[in-house]
Formats: sequence, structure tokens, C-alpha cells
Amino acid sequence: MSIENFRAETRAWLSENCPESMRDRPVHFEDAFDIYNTDDARAWRDACAAKGWTAPLWPKEYGGAQMSADEYRVFQEEMAAIKALPPETGMGLAMIGPTLLEFGTEAQKQEHLPKIATGQVRWCQGYSEPGSGSDLASLQTKAVLEGDQFIINGQKIWTSGANNADWMFALVRTDPNASKHDGISFVLLDMHQPGVSVKPIPLISGSSPFCETFFDNAIALRSNLVGELNKGWTVGKRLLQYERSASPAPRRKKAVKSLNPYAQIAKQYLGETGGKVSDADAREKITQQVMLEKSMQLTVQRVSAETKSGRAPGATTSIFKLVGSTIAKESSALKSELRGLAGVGWEGDTFSEDELDATRGWLRDRAVTIYGGTNEVQMNIIAKRVLGLPD
Ligand SMILES: Cc1cc2nc3c(=O)[nH]c(=O)nc-3n(C[C@H](O)[C@H](O)[C@H](O)COP(=O)(O)OP(=O)(O)OC[C@H]3O[C@@H](n4cnc5c(N)ncnc54)[C@H](O)[C@@H]3O)c2cc1C
Repeated sequence: MSIENFRAETRAWLSENCPESMRDRPVHFEDAFDIYNTDDARAWRDACAAKGWTAPLWPKEYGGAQMSADEYRVFQEEMAAIKALPPETGMGLAMIGPTLLEFGTEAQKQEHLPKIATGQVRWCQGYSEPGSGSDLASLQTKAVLEGDQFIINGQKIWTSGANNADWMFALVRTDPNASKHDGISFVLLDMHQPGVSVKPIPLISGSSPFCETFFDNAIALRSNLVGELNKGWTVGKRLLQYERSASPAPRRKKAVKSLNPYAQIAKQYLGETGGKVSDADAREKITQQVMLEKSMQLTVQRVSAETKSGRAPGATTSIFKLVGSTIAKESSALKSELRGLAGVGWEGDTFSEDELDATRGWLRDRAVTIYGGTNEVQMNIIAKRVLGLPD
């Protein structure tokens, strides 16, 4: 099929099948589960999954559509044109799926990938522990191989979505005598078993998007060891690159003056003179933010065009994570700042819904420079792996 025909067919199909409620709305990690837990969301996901469009680049035998780079670009453009939400999200598609495609056995791919593509199984990430965050390789959760299964004991923390997850990918210590980075293995385990318990951590916002996860003789089958025994650090690091390349960047699509969200807010709260934001300091901040966002978009486009895969490879993902998450955090902070006192409203009738959302967005987006490795950790990786500076 020619690419023009592909575009025409994709456009027609999307317009007919994407429900209105799955268009043009923000999704954050705190509310993603609720947004995707509706009849509309399920219908949208199932229709796309039947065409392999939940995982457009994956091979067809694992539930993907095996699109070419050109088809994928067109697909993304047509999705963006109607502001369609992705038909499926989560750590399955963004993190463990691509990792299994790279490191999984044939049996693991066949068992897990189609269930991810059709949204039957939700995944969570068992990396961080109470004493191991940035220094992840110091993790202590222990897994002992007995026959054809690992017996796991220990604790994970900040496990996003563990309370709604069916499976976990986890880093566990399988050789306590080896040096820190050796002796770690990467395993997949079923969350619905007696040895796993999950305790949601309530946030000040009232929601509990992440949890503590406890293992008390939990079991992972040996057949669900990904990569080699004691060599899980390599697999775990690669997964982090997928996580980082999926991290948020500000969602502005076009630098159309009249749609500049910062200018709109500033005009409303600080006033306008002759069509311009009145406050010179605010104008300066807005210009800088928009220039940064535009530069980031252009750099991402250039790197995707160069790699043809739609993903930034290797350690350079740390650059995107560092810059993209910083810009996203500053975007929310600027939107709150431009609102003045109305930008710090928490509750009550004196604030509009937009103002209350803005405050929550500002606080929530403070997390983007922490999860998936903090900014300082990204700078360490860039120094060592990209710039080749000594330790
Ligand atoms: C919203 C959110 C969701 C998350 N979801 C998950 C999840 O699903 N699964 C999971 O496993 N984890 C998850 N995490 C945990 C996240 O990966 C850790 O918070 C992160 O790796 C930092 O670890 P820490 O919190 O222990 O901070 P620490 O490692 O204690 O760091 C504290 C501070 O010290 C700095 N620092 C530490 N080491 C260095 C260094 N060598 N050089 C310079 N500065 C340094 C850090 O940058 C940071 O500012 C999530 C976190 C957040 C905020």
C-alpha cells in the first residue's frame, strides 16, 4: 500500500473508531488507571489491538503491527491530528515489552508480549528499595534458586501501580557474595500470589499512585529469568533507557502564537497591552520556555530521523530524560507562577477548576526529574557514558 493510501485509511479508521472521551485530555500517572478503566477506553484499546496498533512497531506474531518507520510516522501524525490518547499505556508497552523483545527467550516473548499488546496484563516495576534508589545496584531483595523457581524475600518501594498490577519485573540479588553490580538477576513474577503483599502510600494530594511491595517467600519461575543468572544489571539498565526515552516532554505541538498557553495565562492574570503580555519579565520567561520547548522538539525529531527507529538509543536517552523532564517541570511551574496567588490554590470556591488543576500539575510534575533516575544521576551517566569523562 502506498503511504498516501495508508494515511487516508488510517485517518478514516481513527475518525470512526476513536471515542470522543479518548481525545484531547491530559493523562497523568496519578489518574491514568481511572481514565483507562472505562468502557470507551476498553473499546478503543480492543479495536486498536485487533489491528496491532497498540504496539505499532512490534512484530505481528507478538501482537504488533510491524509498521515501517514511514507508516509509524504517519500513524503518529494522524493520532495527533485528532488528539487521540494512546489506546494502551503503561510499563508493559513502554518498558518490559521492548526489553523482552531484546533479551527475552522465544517462550517469554510468546507468553508475555501479546498480553501486553491487548492490555490483558498490567505491569509494575520492582527496582527501588528503602535503601536503594539512585544507588540501585546496592539492592538487597534476595532470590534463592531452588529447583525451577526463585524464592524471593525483601521489600521494594515507590512501586507505581503495584496495587493494580498483575505482574512485576524486578531486580533481585541472586549472589550476595559477588560485587555490587554482579549477582543481580532480572525476573518476572506474578503479583497474584500469597508471597506478595502491596501497601499503597497515600500522598498529600489524596491519591496513592505508588506502593510498598513486600515479598515473603514469593515465587518467580526460573523460566521467567530474563537474560543470564547474575547478569540482570545489563537487562535492568537497558529497561531504564526505554523508561527514560518515554519520559514526558511538554505537550505543545505547534508554536502558533495565538495558542501559546503561557501567553494566554499571562494575558488573563497579568493583563495585555496591544495584544502583548503587559509584564516584561513574564514575556521574557515565556519566550525562554517556548524556545527551550521548540529546541527540544526539533532535537527529538532530528534524532528520531537519524535513528529511523523512533527511539533514541543508548546512553543519549539520559540527555533527553534530563532536558525533557526539566522542561516539563518548568512548564508547570511557569503556568502556576504566571497565575500569581491563584496559582497556589489548593481547594475552595474562590479558585477555578483550571487553577486547582494547575497547582496539582505543578506539584505532580516535580516528580518527573526524580523517577526513572534523578537529574543528578542522568548527569553522572552523561559525564561517564556520553562524554567519556573519568569516574
Ligand atoms: C512519581 C515516582 C514514581 C516512581 N515509580 C517507581 C516505580 O514504579 N518503581 C521503582 O522501582 N521506583 C520508582 N520510583 C523511585 C525512583 O526511581 C527513585 O525515587 C529515584 O531513583 C531516586 O531514588 P531515591 O528516592 O531513593 O533518592 P536518593 O537516591 O536517596 O537521592 C536523594 C538525592 O540525592 C541525589 N543523589 C543521589 N546519588 C547521587 C550521586 N551519586 N551524585 C549526585 N547526586 C546524587 C539525588 O539526585 C537526589 O537529589 C518512583 C519515584 C517517583 C518520584
